Amino acid sequence: MTEILTRAVEVTRRYGDVLALDGVSLDVRQGELVGLLGPNGAGKSTLINLLVGLRRPSSGRVELFGGSPADPVRRRGIGVTPQETGLPPTLRVGEVVDFVSAHYPRSADRGALLERFALSGLDRRQVGGLSGGQKRRLAVALAFVGNPRLVFLDEPTTGLDVEARRALWDAIRHFHADGGTVVLTSHYLEEIEALAERVVVIGQGRVLADDTTAAVRDMAGIRRVTLVCDSLPELPGVLSTEHDGSRTHLLTADADALVRDLVRADVPFSGLEIRPTSLEEAFLVITARAPQAA
Ligand code: ADP
Ligand code: MG
Repeated sequence: MTEILTRAVEVTRRYGDVLALDGVSLDVRQGELVGLLGPNGAGKSTLINLLVGLRRPSSGRVELFGGSPADPVRRRGIGVTPQETGLPPTLRVGEVVDFVSAHYPRSADRGALLERFALSGLDRRQVGGLSGGQKRRLAVALAFVGNPRLVFLDEPTTGLDVEARRALWDAIRHFHADGGTVVLTSHYLEEIEALAERVVVIGQGRVLADDTTAAVRDMAGIRRVTLVCDSLPELPGVLSTEHDGSRTHLLTADADALVRDLVRADVPFSGLEIRPTSLEEAFLVITARAPQAA
């Protein structure tokens, strides 16, 4: 097996009363492009911050290149773009890149880096004069300055328009094609699908699924079928049943088949509604039904 570059073992992290991570285990190997997918507040940023050594777990263990993420030599092998960055507004773009480069033994060529992130020609522009999208691209580019083996990008495309987002995706793919390892977070399945081969779904501080993008896409296809009826026969394909006053909610991967079965079974129902579930809801249902070690 290829080398494990970053790992969390049974990691828990509390902020006061908030349990931000609850027993998370994760291995990322050389050459992987892993997407951490989950809604706001799921614990994605907390996990990244632990993996890169910015914060420490309340319990459990984190490893970077087989050792402590607090070790400065190991940290030189990674690049990080936090979810929020504040760059000094009066520095010029070229100065920011040079400043970060100075911390690494082997840094990327400035012109090539700026070009790859669609920032060519902006060397002399003050950071404060960049657009929001340009600032975000610069923040992401800085993760690549030190020629890292492994980059962590926390919601890299937040605030970017479609074109800029695609340019950034290309840059990330390029790095990965050259052998780089990537861990990125997003709350868009579409973004994870565009980039990652492996998706780790995080919800309420736990790993809800760790699978291929295709498998996660199938799980995400779960629908909520709501209806009003007195009683329901046993129906195939129902993942969960929930009563809410006079209404019954059924979760299923195949809403069409379920509706056909309802009609065929001559169930007197009214108020039929079919809606997509949130990813988190879909995963909570699946994992509640089939508990398994992540
Ligand atoms: P995500 O990145 O998936 O949106 P976070 O890791 O930022 O999730 O947050 C996970 C949980 O931890 C949330 O409930 C959030 O409010 C809480 N949290 C995160 N950082 C802090 C902090 N510095 N102090 C207190 N609570 C925090
Ligand atoms: Mg976050």
